[in-house]
Amino acid sequence: MTDRPTLDELTAGVPFARRHIGLTAADRQKMLSTVGYDSVDALLRAAVPASIWLDEPLDLPAAGTEASVTAELRAYAGRNKPMAQMIGLGYHDTITPPVIRRNVLENPSWYTAYTPYQPEISQGRLEALLTYQTMVEDLTGLPIANASLLDEATAAAEAMTLARRSSKAPKDAAFLVDSDVLPQTRAVVGTRADGLGIKLVDADLSAGLPDGDFFGVLVQYPGASGVVRDITDIVTQAHARQALVAVAADLLALTLLRTPGEFGADIAVGSSQRFGVPLMFGGPHAGYLSVRDGLQRMLPGRLVGVSKDADGAPAYRLALQTREQHIRREKATSNICTAQVLLANIAAFYAAWHGPEGLRLIAQRAHRYAAVLAAGLRNAGFQIEHESFFDTILVRTRGKAAHYVAAAAQRGINLRQAGDDLVGIACDETTTSERIAAVWSAFGVSDVDIAALDTATGDGLPEPLLRQSDYLRHEVFHSHRSETAMMRFLRGLAAKDYGLDRGMIPLGSCTMKLNAAVEMEPVSWPEFAGIHPLAPAEQTGGYAALVADLETWLAEATGYDAVSLQPNSGAQGELAGLLAIRAYHDANGDHHRDICLIPSSAHGTNAASAVMAGMKVVVVKCDDDGNVDLAHLRETLDKHRDDVAALMITYPSTHGVYEQAVAEVCAAVHDAGGQVYVDGANLNALLGVAKPGRFGGDVSHLNLHKTFCIPHGGGGPGVGPVAVRAHLADYLPGRGAVGPIAAAANGSAGILPISWAYLRLMGPDGLRAATGSAVLAANYLARRLSGHFPVLYSGTDGLVAHECILDLRPITKATGVTVDDVAKRLIDYGFHAPTMSFPVAGTLMVEPTESEDLAELDRFVAAMVAIKAEIDRVGAGEWPKDDNPLVNAPHTSATLAEDWSHPYDRQLAAFPAGVRPATKYWPPVRRIDGAYGDRNLVCSCPAPEAFED
Ligand SMILES: *Cc1c(COP(=O)(O)O)cnc(C)c1O
Repeated sequence: MTDRPTLDELTAGVPFARRHIGLTAADRQKMLSTVGYDSVDALLRAAVPASIWLDEPLDLPAAGTEASVTAELRAYAGRNKPMAQMIGLGYHDTITPPVIRRNVLENPSWYTAYTPYQPEISQGRLEALLTYQTMVEDLTGLPIANASLLDEATAAAEAMTLARRSSKAPKDAAFLVDSDVLPQTRAVVGTRADGLGIKLVDADLSAGLPDGDFFGVLVQYPGASGVVRDITDIVTQAHARQALVAVAADLLALTLLRTPGEFGADIAVGSSQRFGVPLMFGGPHAGYLSVRDGLQRMLPGRLVGVSKDADGAPAYRLALQTREQHIRREKATSNICTAQVLLANIAAFYAAWHGPEGLRLIAQRAHRYAAVLAAGLRNAGFQIEHESFFDTILVRTRGKAAHYVAAAAQRGINLRQAGDDLVGIACDETTTSERIAAVWSAFGVSDVDIAALDTATGDGLPEPLLRQSDYLRHEVFHSHRSETAMMRFLRGLAAKDYGLDRGMIPLGSCTMKLNAAVEMEPVSWPEFAGIHPLAPAEQTGGYAALVADLETWLAEATGYDAVSLQPNSGAQGELAGLLAIRAYHDANGDHHRDICLIPSSAHGTNAASAVMAGMKVVVVKCDDDGNVDLAHLRETLDKHRDDVAALMITYPSTHGVYEQAVAEVCAAVHDAGGQVYVDGANLNALLGVAKPGRFGGDVSHLNLHKTFCIPHGGGGPGVGPVAVRAHLADYLPGRGAVGPIAAAANGSAGILPISWAYLRLMGPDGLRAATGSAVLAANYLARRLSGHFPVLYSGTDGLVAHECILDLRPITKATGVTVDDVAKRLIDYGFHAPTMSFPVAGTLMVEPTESEDLAELDRFVAAMVAIKAEIDRVGAGEWPKDDNPLVNAPHTSATLAEDWSHPYDRQLAAFPAGVRPATKYWPPVRRIDGAYGDRNLVCSCPAPEAFED
């Protein structure tokens, strides 16, 4: 016997859980003594109600090593077959410029950042999003674009509801959908219309509008068939009937074709995928939506605008937020919260990299190859369905479509079979002469002199529809042509921002934990990135296995029976879950059950989603401890006994507490015939400790971009799986009874390897250890800070769950110092602020997660304690209320160089206790005036002169 490690131990190395969890055993011991428990288990047992406590460990595979899990993923990747993807239908192969892939997609400065709610530390990604908006505005010819939606199909659905809100057509008017709209778009629009009780009419609009009242019209441009049509008459006829026109347009085509704006359309929607974002089996991709002037205040999604900071310098921030769910709740323009920021940024950089002339060449390449391909087939006797096309042609095959599609597949090329007779072929940025020759050969055509055919073949774009107007004239689309310039541009933007690569982001309800490199790497492997969502099943075995594993594991972790990974955000998961509940009630003949009870503290998306599912929101009060007021719940249930569809309850509560009565709450709702929706976005306090599917939930959504390590990307992507008990399984999205709620069957499939890897690397013990550490960290912060800032709510034994609310209201009342001041002062101390004024106005909600180490937690405590001391000096009258380090925060480096007339010194302004000059994070702008920007709305890149002194 020796005490040297065994081969197995040496092979296993350091368990991944120890890399993921920031706390060492010694850290935990120290923190436990502060919190007053002997072990993490004792702490959890004290905090979690016995009625929901899970005794048995999760039945998940034991933890693998980073090497073994990567090898398993490689094996899965090997079961996917990358092909030349010429299927089209809204998804086109593209080249992600390596300079963008490496510096953005694979760069934690970009992917770990949070949604830019703290604009002073988010100027880089806000500028990138403004570039994206400018790009969409220019290409679509409409003046205002939002900062991304979840995909093209949901963007079209949002266009429908936007049209409904603003059209003056009669109440019972319908939404008209052209028959050449992408099938997945039609399907998602159908699901949304069902939810809202909107009537849809399908028609071939090439013959003009059918009779009837319409509030909106949706056309595809170019059509799903590839055809390019003049839509002037449709717009004129629609407007004559009070209908708004939404055009689903291909951004690349718009570099050559007349814009939706030039046709007089009101709304344009689409995907920016082919601007450098890989296919990824259907997502994540940024959907876009732009509107004409006059519709901006009804716009769904986030909108970046230009405002000014305290020095009057231009600065970016989110505009018109009163439209959004976190403020307007059930009256919001949509339930969009997480969107597709990272992918929108990539698309914007792609446009900046290529510039208008480069994009035009790429568009011409796709078009010319399609034209030459068509000519070759036509010469060989094939009939081409449409004379006018951009990049997609339809070939008639005398009933042999399947044969030609198979012949192409043998040559490594995917084509689209459209019925027995038609084959669709889409060209793109990656098309080459060799590939065209291979397609011809699949059709039995050989010996074509492609160069000669190119010379002899005219364009397939109709002359009157050619674009005459300029686009992308802003200098950002002209200044970064060399790779050196591009690399520095990207680095310069990233340098302005605060992400997890700089320090902790203690945002309550957002779970900003580690996004490990080993989890991220597979995302860019071609076997995952290069797969078309409509590729045949025999080419996508790896994805199928990954999806099946993840569904099984998530069902086990939550105690539910079935899971759908389709929703591409938490809010979409909510919608899917509520639609399932509604369909279930309908199937039982309970058509009248349409009331959704929502506690007053709930996340804003809950109410917005309920409305989208056709439900009426009734608010349930919270008691003084922040829990659902049981008496009021019972009263409300009695009042609506026959009409209650569901209760949506967040667990642990939005206040970050394990409510004792949750099982009782669920039972009361079931007694009244309602279903229980447990908002599982905060699963980080439950994994391995309790299962919502066991303690009363019928359905939950999870946020893989919170608990399961998908990075926030500056505000997306995300995955919001919906998990249900068996009686709701038939009503999961896209499985028959309820339509799809995202364009691609597996939603944002391309980022599922991240969560798969996390579960596989942690194993059941690691996951439970993460939960324990997250709860310990939150309680440690609560305990250390409660002497300085009252902790608003706690459960048994004064414990919180995974986050805690610091109540600043008494401090504000006494001193005038606000949560805003504290949040901005934290920037001077090198922190991202906690969640501000949610779920309680005037408070900060702190969620440290398990990934931070004790030193970082202590740094945060020290900063908060120092800030409290500063507040006290304001309170004592030592500094004036309008001139102190808090109201003036954040301080930029430029402020220090100015004449200094403040009653505190520069040292305290920029280098307060604990801040080292050598490692300091400098905000690029001073405090931003949001209201000014809303009054003077500017949502495209300002001229460079705006930045001159
Ligand atoms: C984050 C969150 C949501 C919304 O998730 P998105 O992915 O942003 O749509 C819903 N509910 C709760 C409690 C959340 O914390």
